[in-house]
Amino acid sequence: MQEAQEGVIKFQYEHFPGPLKAPRDLLLELMAWRAVLRELTLIGQEAGLYDEAGYGNVSARLPPYQAERGERRFVITGTQTGGLACTAAEHFCVIDSYDTNKNQVRSGGPSLPSSESMTHGTVYDLDSRIRFVFHGHARLIWPLSAELSMATSRASVPYGTPAMAQEVRRLYRETNLPEERIFSMGGHEDGIVSFGETAQEAGSRLLNALVRARMILGGRDQRICDSRPESKSSLV
Ligand SMILES: [Zn+2]
Repeated sequence: MQEAQEGVIKFQYEHFPGPLKAPRDLLLELMAWRAVLRELTLIGQEAGLYDEAGYGNVSARLPPYQAERGERRFVITGTQTGGLACTAAEHFCVIDSYDTNKNQVRSGGPSLPSSESMTHGTVYDLDSRIRFVFHGHARLIWPLSAELSMATSRASVPYGTPAMAQEVRRLYRETNLPEERIFSMGGHEDGIVSFGETAQEAGSRLLNALVRARMILGGRDQRICDSRPESKSSLV
C-alpha cells in the first residue's frame, strides 16, 4: 500500500501497472467528453489556481454492472492529467475495487489513480445504474449552488475521506440529488460532481448548470458575457 496525497486528499492505494483493460469505445467516449469539459475549463490546470494542481476528472463504470459495493470497477483519468490537452489510454487507470470506509483503492493500468477516485467510487455506490461520473471545477456554478437549488455537501466535511462518502450518501437520502444528479462540494472550492446512466446525461447535467448560472448572472447584470475576446470585423 502507498499513500496518495494531493491538497487535502489522502487515501491508500495498491496499484498494479500494466496495459489499460477497458473497452475502446467507452474510453473514446470518456476522452471526448473530457476534451469538451476541458475546453470549458471545467477540467484543467492553471497558474494561481488550486495550488497549480491539475483538476477535474471523468470516469465510467465497467461490467459486471450488478457487482456489489466494494467490487464495482470503473475506469478513470489518472492523477495529474488535468493539464493535458491530449489524452490516450496511457492517461487512464482502472479502479478494480475500493472501500470508502477504509479509504482504500486497488487499481491497475498505465496511470496512477486520480486523487479523486474515492469520490467517484462513493457516487457509484449510491445506485448500480450510475455508469458515468464527471467532476469539474466550475467558478460560475459553485458560488450559485444555493440559487441553483443544487445539493451541497457541508463545507466542514473534508472531501476524499470516509466522512465525505457518508455526506454524499446523506445528500442522496435527503436532497434532490437522486433526481438532479449533480451536487456541489461545499468544502472543495469550485468542485461540482455530476453523474448519470449515460455520459450524455452526466455531461448535460453539468452543461445545463452552466447555462442556468449564466442566466442568473445575466438577470443581475442585464447582459451575459463569455470569456472570449470580441471578434473584430475587418473591412477590406
Ligand atoms: Zn476537484
